Amino acid sequence: MALHIIDEANRCLNCKKPGCQKGCPAHTPIPQVMQLFNEGKLMEAGALLFENNPLSAICSTVCNHEVQCAGNCVLGKKGNPIHFSSVENFISEAYLDRMEWKAEEKKGESVAVIGSGPAGMTTAMLLARAGYGVTIFEAKDKIGGIMQYGIPEFRLSKKLLTRYKEKMLEMGIQIRPNTTIGGALKIEDLFRDGYSCVFIGTGVWRPKTLGIHGESLGNVHFGLDYLANPTAYDLGETIAVIGMGNAAMDVARTALRRGARKAMLFARGKKAAASSHEMSYARLDGAEFIYEKAIERITPEGPVFRNSIFDEEENVIGYSEETELIRADSTIISVSQGPKNKLILTTKGLKGTDQGLLQVDEDLMTTCDGVFAAGDVVHGAKTVVAAVEEAKRAVKSMIRYMERRADAPQNKNRGIAV
Ligand SMILES: Cc1cc2nc3c(=O)[nH]c(=O)nc-3n(C[C@H](O)[C@H](O)[C@H](O)COP(=O)(O)OP(=O)(O)OC[C@H]3O[C@@H](n4cnc5c(N)ncnc54)[C@H](O)[C@@H]3O)c2cc1C
Repeated sequence: MALHIIDEANRCLNCKKPGCQKGCPAHTPIPQVMQLFNEGKLMEAGALLFENNPLSAICSTVCNHEVQCAGNCVLGKKGNPIHFSSVENFISEAYLDRMEWKAEEKKGESVAVIGSGPAGMTTAMLLARAGYGVTIFEAKDKIGGIMQYGIPEFRLSKKLLTRYKEKMLEMGIQIRPNTTIGGALKIEDLFRDGYSCVFIGTGVWRPKTLGIHGESLGNVHFGLDYLANPTAYDLGETIAVIGMGNAAMDVARTALRRGARKAMLFARGKKAAASSHEMSYARLDGAEFIYEKAIERITPEGPVFRNSIFDEEENVIGYSEETELIRADSTIISVSQGPKNKLILTTKGLKGTDQGLLQVDEDLMTTCDGVFAAGDVVHGAKTVVAAVEEAKRAVKSMIRYMERRADAPQNKNRGIAV
C-alpha cells in the first residue's frame, strides 16, 4: 500500500498551473502537498492539508474525485491521472491522530454551532483553532450529520468520525448531543447565555415527497430514513427505489448487502443523476437501472409507472396512457431532501428562501445579526466538500464580525433581543 502511494506521488509532474487544484472545490494546494510528501515530510504535508480542509481525511474518501482532482489532472488527458485522493488519504490518516491543534491564544469569546455535519465540524474546528470557545449542539446522538446517518459504513467508516470527535474534544470543543435547537432551547437562549455568534449548519433532512397515492403505505419508505438505521427495516427480497441519484445508490447497495435479492432503481429520464463511479459500484453490488419510467402511484404490490415520452433533445414532454405495475416487496423513495423549518419557526427574524433554505448575505450572515449559516441548509443538497468550503468562508466572516464587535464594545449584545 505505502509503496503504491509513493509511486503514485512520484508520478506527479508538479504542474505550474495545476488543474487538479483548480478542480478541487476546497482548492487543496495539491502540488505543495505532493512535494512535501515526496520529500518525506509527512507531518508537514498533513498540516498543510488540514489547514486548508480539516475534513481532509473524509474528503479523500467521499469526494467525487473523478470530476475534481483526478478529473482535472493533465496526465488523465492521455492516460492514467494521478489519484491524489489516495495520497491525501494516506497522509491525512497518518496525521489525524497525531495533529496538535491547540489555539495559541484564547480570544475569550464563544460560538454556538448548531449541527455537527461537515459544515458544523469545519466551523467548530477552525474557530477552536483560532482561540474561540465552541459548543456544538447536535440533534442526534452521534456527530457527523449525513456522514454518520446517510453515507453507509462500507463507503465511510464511522470509526473515522469517532476519531474526529475525539480530536474535537481534545481541542476543547464541547458537544451537546441529543439537543435540538428550536426545541427546548432556542437561538435566543444561546445569545442570552453569552455566545457571541451562532452558526447554523443543520443541513436538509426532510425527504422530498412525490405527492402521489401510496406514499404512506406500510411497505413504502424514504431513503434517508432507511439509511439512518437500516437494521430497523424488514424490506423483503425485491426492492424498488424511486430515484437514481447518489443517495439512491446507497439505498440500493445497503438493501442488497443486507439480504435483498433484487434492487431496481427507476429514473424518469434517459440519464441518472448519480455519478458514473457510484453507479458502477451499485451495479457491482447487483443493482439494476431502469430508465424512462415515471412513477404514477404506489400500491401494496409495488410501484406503478407510465413510460416517459421525449422530444428531440431528450426532455420529458409527456407520459404514456398505459401503466405498468412492477412487483416489489418494498418501495423506497429517494428523490432528494429539503430543509426542516424548525429554526425559522422559532427564531424571530430568521428568514428562509422560497425553498425553505436560509437566506444569507455575501458574508453568510443570515437575516439575524450574529447568526451565520453554511452547508446544505444554505445551498441545498450538495456535497461534503461544498459544505466544508462554505463553512470556511463563514468562519472568516464570523471572526471579522467578532473582532469588529470587540473593537466597538458598545456593539456588544447585538444578537437577537431577548
Ligand atoms: C445518502 C447520501 C449520501 C451522500 N454521499 C455523499 C458522498 O459520498 N460524498 C459527498 O461529498 N456528499 C455526499 N452526500 C451529501 C453530503 O453528505 C451533504 O451535502 C453534507 O453532509 C451536508 O453537510 P451539512 O453540514 O450542511 O449538513 P448535514 O450533514 O446534513 O448535517 C446537519 C446536522 O445538523 C443536525 N441538526 C439539524 N437540525 C438541527 C437542530 N435544529 N439542532 C441541532 N442539530 C440539528 C443534524 O442532525 C445533522 O447532524 C450524500 C448525501 C446523502 C443523503
